[in-house]
Amino acid sequence: MKKKIAIIGFGGMGSWHVNHAQKSDVLELAGIYDIDVEKQEKAKNLGIYSYSSLDELINDKSVELVTIAIPNDVHLDTVVRCLLGGKHVICEKPVALSSSDLEKMIEASKKSGKLFTVHQNRRFDVDYLAMQQLADSGEIGAPLRIESRIHGSRGIPSDWRGEKEHGGGMILDWGIHLIDQLMLIYKNEEIDTINCEVTNITNKEVDDGFYLTIKFKSGKVAFVEVGTYNFIALPRFYMKAEKGSALIVDWREKTKVAKCKYWHENDVLPVQTAAGLTKTMAPRDSVTLDTYELEIPKSDVHDFYRNFCQAIDGKATQLVTHDEMRLDMKIMEYAFKSAELGQTVKFEK
Ligand code: NAD
Repeated sequence: MKKKIAIIGFGGMGSWHVNHAQKSDVLELAGIYDIDVEKQEKAKNLGIYSYSSLDELINDKSVELVTIAIPNDVHLDTVVRCLLGGKHVICEKPVALSSSDLEKMIEASKKSGKLFTVHQNRRFDVDYLAMQQLADSGEIGAPLRIESRIHGSRGIPSDWRGEKEHGGGMILDWGIHLIDQLMLIYKNEEIDTINCEVTNITNKEVDDGFYLTIKFKSGKVAFVEVGTYNFIALPRFYMKAEKGSALIVDWREKTKVAKCKYWHENDVLPVQTAAGLTKTMAPRDSVTLDTYELEIPKSDVHDFYRNFCQAIDGKATQLVTHDEMRLDMKIMEYAFKSAELGQTVKFEK
Protein backbone atom coordinates (compact mmCIF):
# COMPACT_ATOMS: atom_id res chain seq x y z
CA MET A 1 0.00 0.00 0.00
CA LYS A 2 1.20 3.53 -0.81
CA LYS A 3 2.36 5.68 2.09
CA LYS A 4 0.97 9.16 2.60
CA ILE A 5 3.56 11.90 2.41
CA ALA A 6 3.46 15.66 2.98
CA ILE A 7 6.10 18.00 1.59
CA ILE A 8 7.25 20.90 3.73
CA GLY A 9 8.50 23.79 1.61
CA PHE A 10 7.03 24.27 -1.86
CA GLY A 11 9.91 26.13 -3.51
CA GLY A 12 12.33 24.77 -6.08
CA MET A 13 13.15 21.44 -4.47
CA GLY A 14 9.82 21.05 -2.70
CA SER A 15 8.13 21.20 -6.13
CA TRP A 16 10.50 18.48 -7.33
CA HIS A 17 9.43 16.26 -4.41
CA VAL A 18 5.74 16.98 -5.05
CA ASN A 19 6.16 16.05 -8.69
CA HIS A 20 8.11 12.96 -7.71
CA ALA A 21 5.48 11.88 -5.14
CA GLN A 22 2.70 12.31 -7.71
CA LYS A 23 4.47 9.85 -10.02
CA SER A 24 5.69 7.49 -7.33
CA ASP A 25 4.65 3.83 -7.01
CA VAL A 26 5.14 3.92 -3.22
CA LEU A 27 3.82 7.35 -2.22
CA GLU A 28 0.54 9.18 -2.12
CA LEU A 29 0.75 12.96 -1.81
CA ALA A 30 -1.34 14.26 1.11
CA GLY A 31 -0.38 17.91 0.63
CA ILE A 32 2.20 20.58 1.24
CA TYR A 33 2.98 23.12 3.91
CA ASP A 34 4.82 26.36 3.13
CA ILE A 35 4.97 29.52 5.27
CA ASP A 36 4.62 31.68 2.19
CA VAL A 37 0.99 32.50 1.33
CA GLU A 38 1.82 32.72 -2.38
CA LYS A 39 3.16 29.16 -2.32
CA GLN A 40 0.03 28.03 -0.47
CA GLU A 41 -2.12 29.62 -3.20
CA LYS A 42 0.04 28.09 -5.92
CA ALA A 43 -0.52 24.63 -4.41
CA LYS A 44 -4.28 25.14 -4.16
CA ASN A 45 -4.42 26.30 -7.78
CA LEU A 46 -2.70 23.06 -8.75
CA GLY A 47 -5.29 21.05 -6.82
CA ILE A 48 -2.80 20.15 -4.06
CA TYR A 49 -3.94 20.33 -0.44
CA SER A 50 -2.17 23.10 1.48
CA TYR A 51 -1.90 22.70 5.26
CA SER A 52 -2.50 25.99 7.05
CA SER A 53 0.17 25.30 9.70
CA LEU A 54 2.85 22.80 10.62
CA ASP A 55 0.69 21.73 13.56
CA GLU A 56 -2.22 20.92 11.24
CA LEU A 57 0.12 18.76 9.17
CA ILE A 58 1.59 17.01 12.22
CA ASN A 59 -1.92 16.35 13.58
CA ASP A 60 -2.95 14.67 10.32
CA LYS A 61 -2.49 11.07 11.45
CA SER A 62 -2.88 9.73 7.92
CA VAL A 63 0.50 11.25 6.99
CA GLU A 64 3.27 8.74 7.68
CA LEU A 65 6.27 10.60 6.36
CA VAL A 66 7.35 14.12 5.50
CA THR A 67 10.04 15.56 3.30
CA ILE A 68 11.49 18.86 4.45
CA ALA A 69 12.68 21.14 1.64
CA ILE A 70 13.17 24.53 3.27
CA PRO A 71 16.27 26.75 3.67
CA ASN A 72 19.16 25.12 5.53
CA ASP A 73 19.00 27.21 8.72
CA VAL A 74 15.43 26.15 9.52
CA HIS A 75 15.90 22.39 9.08
CA LEU A 76 16.67 21.71 12.76
CA ASP A 77 13.46 23.00 14.31
CA THR A 78 11.19 21.48 11.65
CA VAL A 79 12.94 18.10 11.65
CA VAL A 80 12.71 17.81 15.43
CA ARG A 81 9.05 18.91 15.56
CA CYS A 82 8.04 16.44 12.85
CA LEU A 83 9.93 13.52 14.41
CA LEU A 84 8.52 14.19 17.87
CA GLY A 85 5.12 14.67 16.25
CA GLY A 86 5.29 11.07 15.02
CA LYS A 87 6.37 11.44 11.39
CA HIS A 88 9.19 9.65 9.63
CA VAL A 89 11.42 12.39 8.22
CA ILE A 90 13.45 12.91 5.08
CA CYS A 91 15.30 16.21 5.21
CA GLU A 92 16.93 17.93 2.28
CA LYS A 93 20.69 18.32 2.20
CA PRO A 94 22.71 19.69 3.90
CA VAL A 95 20.73 18.13 6.70
CA ALA A 96 22.21 20.44 9.36
CA LEU A 97 24.62 23.33 9.82
CA SER A 98 26.70 21.65 12.51
CA SER A 99 27.37 18.24 14.05
CA SER A 100 25.70 19.33 17.28
CA ASP A 101 22.48 20.24 15.40
CA LEU A 102 22.62 16.89 13.62
CA GLU A 103 22.93 15.08 16.97
CA LYS A 104 19.77 16.86 18.19
CA MET A 105 17.93 15.54 15.14
CA ILE A 106 19.24 11.99 15.63
CA GLU A 107 18.29 12.19 19.30
CA ALA A 108 14.72 13.17 18.34
CA SER A 109 14.62 10.25 15.91
CA LYS A 110 15.70 7.82 18.64
CA LYS A 111 13.28 9.30 21.18
CA SER A 112 10.31 9.10 18.83
CA GLY A 113 11.26 5.79 17.22
CA LYS A 114 10.70 7.39 13.80
CA LEU A 115 13.11 7.11 10.88
CA PHE A 116 15.19 10.06 9.89
CA THR A 117 17.39 10.45 6.83
CA VAL A 118 18.73 12.99 4.37
CA HIS A 119 17.93 13.25 0.68
CA GLN A 120 21.30 12.47 -0.91
CA ASN A 121 19.71 12.12 -4.32
CA ARG A 122 23.03 12.50 -6.11
CA ARG A 123 23.87 8.96 -5.07
CA PHE A 124 21.74 8.17 -8.14
CA ASP A 125 23.72 10.30 -10.60
CA VAL A 126 25.15 8.05 -13.30
CA ASP A 127 28.56 9.77 -13.40
CA TYR A 128 29.11 9.01 -9.72
CA LEU A 129 27.74 5.46 -10.12
CA ALA A 130 30.15 4.83 -13.00
CA MET A 131 33.11 5.88 -10.83
CA GLN A 132 31.88 3.88 -7.86
CA GLN A 133 31.31 0.74 -9.94
CA LEU A 134 34.72 1.10 -11.60
CA ALA A 135 36.42 1.44 -8.20
CA ASP A 136 34.47 -1.52 -6.74
CA SER A 137 35.20 -3.76 -9.73
CA GLY A 138 38.96 -3.41 -9.33
CA GLU A 139 39.17 -3.30 -13.13
CA ILE A 140 41.96 -0.70 -13.03
CA GLY A 141 42.99 -1.42 -9.44
CA ALA A 142 42.24 0.67 -6.40
CA PRO A 143 41.79 4.41 -6.90
CA LEU A 144 44.78 6.41 -5.65
CA ARG A 145 43.30 9.84 -6.32
CA ILE A 146 39.83 10.87 -7.43
CA GLU A 147 39.03 14.40 -8.50
CA SER A 148 35.36 15.39 -8.52
CA ARG A 149 34.47 18.74 -9.99
CA ILE A 150 31.43 20.82 -10.77
CA HIS A 151 32.07 23.99 -12.67
CA GLY A 152 29.37 26.54 -13.43
CA SER A 153 29.61 30.14 -14.54
CA ARG A 154 26.51 31.77 -13.07
CA GLY A 155 27.84 32.67 -9.64
CA ILE A 156 26.04 31.63 -6.49
CA PRO A 157 22.20 31.88 -6.67
CA SER A 158 20.94 35.27 -5.52
CA ASP A 159 18.51 33.85 -2.91
CA TRP A 160 19.22 32.62 0.65
CA ARG A 161 22.08 30.50 -0.71
CA GLY A 162 24.16 33.68 -0.83
CA GLU A 163 23.54 34.47 2.85
CA LYS A 164 25.50 33.01 5.75
CA GLU A 165 22.66 33.16 8.29
CA HIS A 166 20.56 30.82 6.11
CA GLY A 167 23.37 28.31 5.62
CA GLY A 168 24.39 29.52 2.17
CA GLY A 169 27.59 28.83 0.27
CA MET A 170 28.80 26.13 -2.03
CA ILE A 171 30.40 23.82 0.54
CA LEU A 172 26.96 23.30 2.08
CA ASP A 173 25.09 23.40 -1.23
CA TRP A 174 27.16 21.29 -3.63
CA GLY A 175 30.06 20.19 -1.43
CA ILE A 176 27.76 17.93 0.56
CA HIS A 177 26.80 15.94 -2.57
CA LEU A 178 30.34 15.52 -3.85
CA ILE A 179 31.81 14.71 -0.41
CA ASP A 180 29.06 12.15 0.19
CA GLN A 181 29.78 10.46 -3.15
CA LEU A 182 33.56 10.29 -2.65
CA MET A 183 33.26 8.97 0.89
CA LEU A 184 31.14 6.09 -0.44
CA ILE A 185 33.79 5.26 -3.03
CA TYR A 186 36.51 5.48 -0.35
CA LYS A 187 34.28 3.77 2.22
CA ASN A 188 37.09 1.75 3.84
CA GLU A 189 39.57 4.62 4.14
CA GLU A 190 40.34 6.60 7.27
CA ILE A 191 40.80 10.36 6.89
CA ASP A 192 44.11 11.82 7.98
CA THR A 193 43.98 15.51 7.03
CA ILE A 194 41.71 18.06 5.36
CA ASN A 195 42.70 21.12 3.39
CA CYS A 196 40.23 23.59 1.98
CA GLU A 197 40.52 26.90 0.20
CA VAL A 198 37.39 28.87 -0.61
CA THR A 199 36.71 31.46 -3.31
CA ASN A 200 34.70 34.66 -2.91
CA ILE A 201 34.57 36.04 -6.43
CA THR A 202 30.89 36.92 -6.73
CA ASN A 203 29.94 36.72 -3.06
CA LYS A 204 31.97 37.98 -0.09
CA GLU A 205 29.66 36.59 2.61
CA VAL A 206 29.76 32.89 1.77
CA ASP A 207 32.01 30.69 -0.36
CA ASP A 208 31.04 30.75 -4.04
CA GLY A 209 33.43 27.88 -4.70
CA PHE A 210 36.16 25.85 -3.03
CA TYR A 211 39.03 23.39 -3.42
CA LEU A 212 38.95 20.56 -0.88
CA THR A 213 41.63 17.90 -0.42
CA ILE A 214 40.86 14.92 1.81
CA LYS A 215 43.98 12.86 2.51
CA PHE A 216 43.57 9.35 3.84
CA LYS A 217 45.95 7.55 6.18
CA SER A 218 46.78 5.18 3.30
CA GLY A 219 48.09 8.11 1.23
CA LYS A 220 45.07 8.03 -1.13
CA VAL A 221 43.39 11.33 -1.93
CA ALA A 222 39.88 12.61 -2.63
CA PHE A 223 39.75 16.05 -4.20
CA VAL A 224 36.56 18.10 -4.59
CA GLU A 225 36.27 21.35 -6.47
CA VAL A 226 33.17 23.46 -6.92
CA GLY A 227 33.31 26.62 -8.98
CA THR A 228 30.63 29.08 -9.99
CA TYR A 229 32.87 31.35 -12.04
CA ASN A 230 34.32 28.89 -14.56
CA PHE A 231 33.47 29.80 -18.14
CA ILE A 232 35.28 26.71 -19.37
CA ALA A 233 34.52 23.65 -17.24
CA LEU A 234 37.14 21.08 -16.27
CA PRO A 235 36.04 17.42 -16.49
CA ARG A 236 33.48 16.14 -14.00
CA PHE A 237 35.55 13.18 -12.70
CA TYR A 238 39.15 12.03 -12.98
CA MET A 239 40.45 8.85 -11.36
CA LYS A 240 44.08 7.84 -11.09
CA ALA A 241 44.18 4.18 -10.08
CA GLU A 242 46.79 1.46 -9.56
CA LYS A 243 46.50 0.09 -13.10
CA GLY A 244 45.06 2.91 -15.13
CA SER A 245 43.09 6.12 -15.32
CA ALA A 246 39.45 7.03 -15.91
CA LEU A 247 37.79 10.23 -17.03
CA ILE A 248 34.23 11.53 -17.24
CA VAL A 249 34.13 14.81 -19.11
CA ASP A 250 30.49 15.69 -18.63
CA TRP A 251 28.01 14.14 -16.18
CA ARG A 252 25.86 12.79 -19.00
CA GLU A 253 28.77 11.12 -20.81
CA LYS A 254 30.36 7.69 -20.75
CA THR A 255 33.49 7.00 -18.72
CA LYS A 256 36.71 6.82 -20.73
CA VAL A 257 39.08 4.20 -19.31
CA ALA A 258 42.77 3.69 -20.05
CA LYS A 259 44.09 0.45 -18.60
CA CYS A 260 47.81 -0.21 -18.51
CA LYS A 261 48.58 -3.69 -19.94
CA TYR A 262 52.39 -3.62 -19.61
CA TRP A 263 54.36 -1.11 -17.60
CA HIS A 264 57.57 -1.32 -19.65
CA GLU A 265 57.84 -0.14 -23.18
CA ASN A 266 61.01 -0.67 -25.21
CA ASP A 267 60.67 1.71 -28.11
CA VAL A 268 59.08 4.90 -26.92
CA LEU A 269 58.55 7.43 -29.66
CA PRO A 270 59.50 10.82 -28.22
CA VAL A 271 57.19 13.80 -28.49
CA GLN A 272 58.75 16.80 -30.23
CA THR A 273 57.64 20.11 -28.79
CA ALA A 274 58.61 23.62 -29.82
CA ALA A 275 61.42 23.70 -27.30
CA GLY A 276 62.68 20.12 -27.24
CA LEU A 277 61.65 16.49 -26.98
CA THR A 278 60.39 14.18 -24.22
CA LYS A 279 60.09 10.43 -23.83
CA THR A 280 58.83 10.68 -20.23
CA MET A 281 55.65 12.45 -21.29
CA ALA A 282 55.17 10.59 -24.59
CA PRO A 283 51.71 9.01 -24.95
CA ARG A 284 51.41 5.22 -24.85
CA ASP A 285 50.21 3.14 -27.77
CA SER A 286 47.84 0.16 -27.95
CA VAL A 287 50.65 -2.32 -27.28
CA THR A 288 50.79 -1.29 -23.62
CA LEU A 289 47.47 0.49 -23.13
CA ASP A 290 43.84 -0.56 -23.55
CA THR A 291 41.45 2.33 -24.03
CA TYR A 292 37.69 1.89 -23.97
CA GLU A 293 34.43 3.39 -22.75
CA LEU A 294 32.07 2.09 -20.07
CA GLU A 295 28.34 1.82 -20.58
CA ILE A 296 26.36 4.41 -18.59
CA PRO A 297 25.03 2.68 -15.44
CA LYS A 298 21.30 2.22 -14.93
CA SER A 299 19.81 4.42 -12.25
CA ASP A 300 16.35 5.28 -10.92
CA VAL A 301 16.13 8.08 -8.38
CA HIS A 302 12.69 6.76 -7.30
CA ASP A 303 14.67 4.03 -5.51
CA PHE A 304 15.46 6.58 -2.78
CA TYR A 305 11.80 6.71 -1.68
CA ARG A 306 11.28 3.01 -2.38
CA ASN A 307 14.11 2.26 0.02
CA PHE A 308 12.80 4.65 2.69
CA CYS A 309 9.29 3.16 2.53
CA GLN A 310 10.76 -0.35 2.86
CA ALA A 311 12.84 0.86 5.81
CA ILE A 312 9.66 2.17 7.49
CA ASP A 313 8.19 -1.32 7.08
CA GLY A 314 11.36 -2.84 8.58
CA LYS A 315 12.24 -4.56 5.29
CA ALA A 316 15.39 -2.56 4.47
CA THR A 317 18.06 -0.41 6.02
CA GLN A 318 17.71 3.24 5.12
CA LEU A 319 20.02 4.15 2.25
CA VAL A 320 21.64 7.14 3.96
CA THR A 321 22.62 6.16 7.50
CA HIS A 322 23.16 8.39 10.52
CA ASP A 323 26.87 7.54 10.57
CA GLU A 324 27.22 8.60 6.93
CA MET A 325 25.41 11.85 7.73
CA ARG A 326 27.74 12.42 10.69
CA LEU A 327 30.87 11.84 8.60
CA ASP A 328 29.77 14.20 5.79
CA MET A 329 28.93 16.89 8.35
CA LYS A 330 32.30 16.50 10.11
CA ILE A 331 34.17 16.81 6.82
CA MET A 332 32.36 20.06 6.00
CA GLU A 333 33.13 21.42 9.46
CA TYR A 334 36.81 20.60 9.01
CA ALA A 335 36.72 22.19 5.55
CA PHE A 336 35.42 25.45 7.05
CA LYS A 337 38.04 25.26 9.79
CA SER A 338 40.88 24.70 7.32
CA ALA A 339 39.71 27.56 5.09
CA GLU A 340 39.46 29.89 8.06
CA LEU A 341 42.90 28.99 9.41
CA GLY A 342 44.45 28.90 5.94
CA GLN A 343 46.13 25.59 6.72
CA THR A 344 45.77 21.83 6.57
CA VAL A 345 44.00 20.38 9.61
CA LYS A 346 44.25 16.97 11.24
CA PHE A 347 40.90 15.14 11.07
CA GLU A 348 39.39 13.61 14.17
CA LYS A 349 36.10 11.77 14.05
P1 NAD B 1 13.57 27.64 -2.19
O1 NAD B 1 13.96 28.97 -1.66
O2 NAD B 1 13.29 27.51 -3.64
O3 NAD B 1 12.29 27.09 -1.41
C1 NAD B 1 12.22 27.07 -0.02
C2 NAD B 1 10.74 27.14 0.40
O4 NAD B 1 10.66 26.93 1.79
C3 NAD B 1 10.09 28.50 0.10
O5 NAD B 1 8.89 28.31 -0.62
C4 NAD B 1 9.82 29.10 1.49
O6 NAD B 1 8.69 29.89 1.55
C5 NAD B 1 9.66 27.83 2.31
N1 NAD B 1 9.95 27.99 3.74
C6 NAD B 1 10.94 28.70 4.35
N2 NAD B 1 10.91 28.51 5.67
C7 NAD B 1 9.90 27.66 5.94
C8 NAD B 1 9.39 27.07 7.12
N3 NAD B 1 9.92 27.31 8.29
N4 NAD B 1 8.32 26.24 6.99
C9 NAD B 1 7.75 25.99 5.80
N5 NAD B 1 8.18 26.52 4.64
C10 NAD B 1 9.26 27.32 4.72
O7 NAD B 1 14.74 26.65 -1.77
P2 NAD B 1 15.07 25.24 -2.43
O8 NAD B 1 16.00 25.42 -3.56
O9 NAD B 1 13.82 24.48 -2.67
O10 NAD B 1 15.90 24.54 -1.25
C11 NAD B 1 15.25 23.96 -0.15
C12 NAD B 1 16.13 22.86 0.42
O11 NAD B 1 16.36 21.88 -0.58
C13 NAD B 1 17.52 23.33 0.88
O12 NAD B 1 17.92 22.61 2.00
C14 NAD B 1 18.40 23.00 -0.31
O13 NAD B 1 19.76 22.81 0.03
C15 NAD B 1 17.76 21.71 -0.79
N6 NAD B 1 17.99 21.40 -2.21
C16 NAD B 1 18.34 20.15 -2.54
C17 NAD B 1 18.57 19.81 -3.85
C18 NAD B 1 18.95 18.40 -4.19
O14 NAD B 1 19.27 18.12 -5.34
N7 NAD B 1 18.92 17.49 -3.23
C19 NAD B 1 18.43 20.78 -4.87
C20 NAD B 1 18.03 22.05 -4.51
C21 NAD B 1 17.81 22.36 -3.17
